[in-house]
Amino acid sequence: MQANEPIAELAQWFQSARGMVVLTGAGMSAESGIPTFRDAQNGLWSQFDPEDLATAQAFRQDKALVWGWYVWRMAMVRAAQPHAGHWALTELATIKPSLSIITQNVDDLHERAGAKDVVHLHGSLFASRCFACGRLHEDVHLPPEAALKPSLRLMPPRCAHCDGYVRPGVVWFGELLPQLAWRKAERCATECDLLIAIGTSGLVFPAASLPGIARHRGAKVVEINPIRTPLSDQVDLSLRSTAGEALCRLVTVLKA
Ligand code: NAD
Ligand code: ZN
Repeated sequence: MQANEPIAELAQWFQSARGMVVLTGAGMSAESGIPTFRDAQNGLWSQFDPEDLATAQAFRQDKALVWGWYVWRMAMVRAAQPHAGHWALTELATIKPSLSIITQNVDDLHERAGAKDVVHLHGSLFASRCFACGRLHEDVHLPPEAALKPSLRLMPPRCAHCDGYVRPGVVWFGELLPQLAWRKAERCATECDLLIAIGTSGLVFPAASLPGIARHRGAKVVEINPIRTPLSDQVDLSLRSTAGEALCRLVTVLKA
């Protein structure tokens, strides 16, 4: 392999980095069959308006629509498996223990591929909680497969403590990020020498500010995405590749 090949350059940066961050977005889960949000044909927002599904206001207005949509997404994630890129990323974290995985994804595919201490900036599909008192309700019943569709209407369960409605454990538009997770992400971005942004459109803030924070502090920033994004002009290296391909290749190069 030529030393100036992009993947070889990334491997060199990886080897010399002390602090390292991998920031993942919906594109990281795409190869596991989970649709991204903004893809023109299959993206979740090509069929639904985020305002109708991913805001507290939407939940107040039509609980059955919102809860049904999230139950469909929970079931889809339960049925999906981590892909080779998830496993490769876990291997990279073993090679470089200082690597922090920060994700915008609300699925658990990184964890199911063995990743530890993943920072979930936008919460988790599997941490439902009471809309009124905030208590966790992780034991959500998923209807049989045949009943599941994105337009499933399903009333959320009620909280055993206060009778409030149970809501999805994700961060909706207009809500604050979990502050511990955000502070950790900001610190990691500030202190790292290398940040790799994988499968994110770079449109949802404040997560989208992390690559800029890292670069401003002198870190190398690399993007892995099959298409150009608003981030592409602000990175040191863009790999036009899927998450699975790029991460598996990086592991191969590092082990060669
Ligand atoms: P996105 O859908 O905006 O972007 C996904 C990106 O992944 C695209 O740039 C696409 O080109 C890329 N991609 C597609 N396939 C890929 C592959 N195989 N490998 C690598 N890249 C691939 O998703 P985003 O940037 O993650 O969106 C921001 C965040 O907004 C979401 O992660 C989500 O947490 C949050 N959000 C949450 C809700 C909610 O329900 N609470 C709703 C909307 C958005
Ligand atoms: Zn309650």
